[in-house]
Amino acid sequence: MQVLKFGGSSVANAENINKVAAIVKDAAAKKKTLVVVSALGGITDTLLAAGTLAAAGDESYKENLALIEQLHLEAVKALIPVTNQSSVLSLVKKQCNEIEDICNGVYALQELSLQTKDRIMSYGELLSSQIIAHRFQNLGMSAVWKDSRELIQTNEQFGNAAVQFVETNQKIQDYFLGNPAGLFVLPGFIAATAKGVTATLGRGGSDYTAAILGGALNADAVEIWTDVSGMMTADPRLVPNARIIPDISYQEAMELSHFGAKVIYPPTIQPVMKKDIPVWIKNTFAPEDYGTLIQKESIGQDAVRGISSLNKMALLSLEGSGMVGIPGFSKRLFEALAGAQINVVLITQSSSEHSICVAVDEVNVSKAKQVVDAAFDYEIETGKLEPLQIEEGLSILALVGDQMKSHPGIAGKMFYVLGRNGVNIRAIAQGSSERNISAVIAADDVKKAINVLHEAFFEESYKQINLYIVGVGNVGSRLLEQLEQQRAYLLEILRLQVNVVGIANSKKMLIKESGIALSNWKEALQEGMEMDLDQFVAMAAAKNLRNAVFADVTANESVALIYEKLLRKSISVVACNKIAAASSYAHYSKLKQLAREFNCHYLFETNVGAALPVIGTLNDLLRTGDTVTKIEAVLSGTLNFVFNNYDGSKSFASVVKQAQDEGYTEPDPRLDLNGTDVMRKIMILARESGSILEMDAITNESFMPESCMQGSVADFYAAMEQEEAHFKAIYDAAAKDGKKLKFVAQFDNGKAKVGLQHIDPAHNLYHLYGKDNIVLFYTKRYPEQPLVVKGAGAGADVTASGVFADIMRTMNA
Ligand code: ADP
Ligand code: ASP
Ligand code: MG
Repeated sequence: MQVLKFGGSSVANAENINKVAAIVKDAAAKKKTLVVVSALGGITDTLLAAGTLAAAGDESYKENLALIEQLHLEAVKALIPVTNQSSVLSLVKKQCNEIEDICNGVYALQELSLQTKDRIMSYGELLSSQIIAHRFQNLGMSAVWKDSRELIQTNEQFGNAAVQFVETNQKIQDYFLGNPAGLFVLPGFIAATAKGVTATLGRGGSDYTAAILGGALNADAVEIWTDVSGMMTADPRLVPNARIIPDISYQEAMELSHFGAKVIYPPTIQPVMKKDIPVWIKNTFAPEDYGTLIQKESIGQDAVRGISSLNKMALLSLEGSGMVGIPGFSKRLFEALAGAQINVVLITQSSSEHSICVAVDEVNVSKAKQVVDAAFDYEIETGKLEPLQIEEGLSILALVGDQMKSHPGIAGKMFYVLGRNGVNIRAIAQGSSERNISAVIAADDVKKAINVLHEAFFEESYKQINLYIVGVGNVGSRLLEQLEQQRAYLLEILRLQVNVVGIANSKKMLIKESGIALSNWKEALQEGMEMDLDQFVAMAAAKNLRNAVFADVTANESVALIYEKLLRKSISVVACNKIAAASSYAHYSKLKQLAREFNCHYLFETNVGAALPVIGTLNDLLRTGDTVTKIEAVLSGTLNFVFNNYDGSKSFASVVKQAQDEGYTEPDPRLDLNGTDVMRKIMILARESGSILEMDAITNESFMPESCMQGSVADFYAAMEQEEAHFKAIYDAAAKDGKKLKFVAQFDNGKAKVGLQHIDPAHNLYHLYGKDNIVLFYTKRYPEQPLVVKGAGAGADVTASGVFADIMRTMNA
């Protein structure tokens, strides 16, 4: 004997019902089979809405009823041969008329009791089960239809009636045992009170019907046929990477469903667990898939088996000095809630006994406030307790697994990943069985939270970065190219998916949560919205995506000014733009502190020496206890290029122009030429070495004549041509002694300076070619021979790779 239950989507239309028929045919060939069905998909909701509209005096309930009739008639016409159709059509018509009569009554009275609601909803399963039984018969399967209301008896708590098992089991056994038929079809969800009044078992209750039948009859198995191939590690609608759990224990399945895994209605497990009857979750649309086997003990080794979430929760807190040490407070609280039929989902109490906190469904909030404040009115009046505090808009997340108790560190990991993503935890609870760790969080954070937890516990090696890129000029477009090139490698080798969710330039912006295709981002951006930086940031904040990173590949001050907002939303900032790190020390350190506070990163390796590991090296030295005594560096790719290529044969201006054309300069090359860019860089290095340094404390021995620094960039080139003699004289002064010109930055003893120097061939800085940069770190560990970092310090490709590397670094703790 076996029980097969088919859910709403499995029987949503004629096509699906035929799939069900094929599955049942195979199953019934093997043993006695009970088939329990839900209403056609969506019908229960439509019935309920009809009742609610009618009660509100809204005549549009008639449209709902017309739709219900139409869908059922269509199903009959598609399933039942014309010759046998008329009796089934008239059965459907008759029951639809009954629904209409009831709804007309509700409309006339403008009142809808729970009892009437149950009555209205019961027609969904009554109709579907009768149509399906007829279909089976027409396919030559001798199916017997049986009204579950004659078998399952409940109390009178309409809407969510409690099963009276003694009577129910007796009725079920009396009917089936000894009944010679081999195949039965029954409506799920519905039952009746002892007086024969229709009741329902709660939304999603058809699963329960199957388990009640299976339990009473000691079935070999109960199969829940639905639209997914099993119970999954998380709700697949929230977590695209969720995967099937092949084996799970009753307890685990119960916890997961209790905390929101809708695939199985929570009370379902109880009657089958008692009898140790295996439950299978199977997919009607992929019957060959293994599915999930729910049984006494799970076979899998994963400590965490699944994650689920319950939405629309509220937290009720009872606080006050009057609670300390006095027994009975919590009893009175729970009695008050139970008396009002309010289900408590989660409980926490502070060890000081100063407060007790419970989570309940949001719909119960006003009732809870009323009954709890009434229960404690004396204590509230005498100031021993505060009136009940309520916080709404919350959700509960639960990690579930029988084996969690033998794996330390799970809660720590859970809170770390939530913290890293800026998810604030309002309350936590862990059952003493350690089968479940629950956290109450803001409803807005659920999707992100459940995805990062899923990543942390089930995709150890498969992570997603959600990346926003602002600035798609030279460096930005190279970055996008590199991301596209590396896509397969990152996925396969690093199990990392970099999902570019936002791209913007000064004119257009584009945000797409599922990811922008990198093969044609240019066209897509063209079609995007008008750029509005504030709106871009607001959207990024509202999306609240996990492992979010904002890459600033501009040289723009207004972009640098939004980092603070981003970091406060736990969005990491990777800046190629130097403006923020080179702004006031107060602002620079505030950004670093915000990144720490909101568990994200503010990284700017490319601010100095493009992709060269300059800041990273410095950070490593300091982290491991070294102290920087002196830094000597050539940090301007532009100036290097210029002085390496200038010997008077071509004008100084034309060499500068060439550097700009080849993409080594800042958008305004004067920032390179007058040393400002180098000052910023040495200041950033000094700050990263632990010094509090401001721009105006840096000595700049500029070699540029004042006349070149006025007006526009065009004026600047013209003025340089005028000053050619000045530049030639500078060159000659060095060349005559066989020395080279280098624009050197120094940080020594807390002081920084930048300026042109004559470098002789024996010096470390002499052999520096093209656009290379070099940094010499003199430290306690490297006192005489410095630690040297040298290589290309400019260029779109290397800079983009440096930004890329910082983006990867945001995934490090
Ligand atoms: P039925 O109509 O067959 O009873 P339900 O809609 O009640 O189906 O339940 C199946 C749905 O439950 C799936 O389509 C899926 O979206 C959702 N679901 C939520 N959490 C989980 C989970 N952990 N595993 C599988 N499905 C889940
Ligand atoms: N049809 C009912 C509902 O939608 C019961 C079920 O499908 O399990 O809640
Ligand atoms: Mg269901």
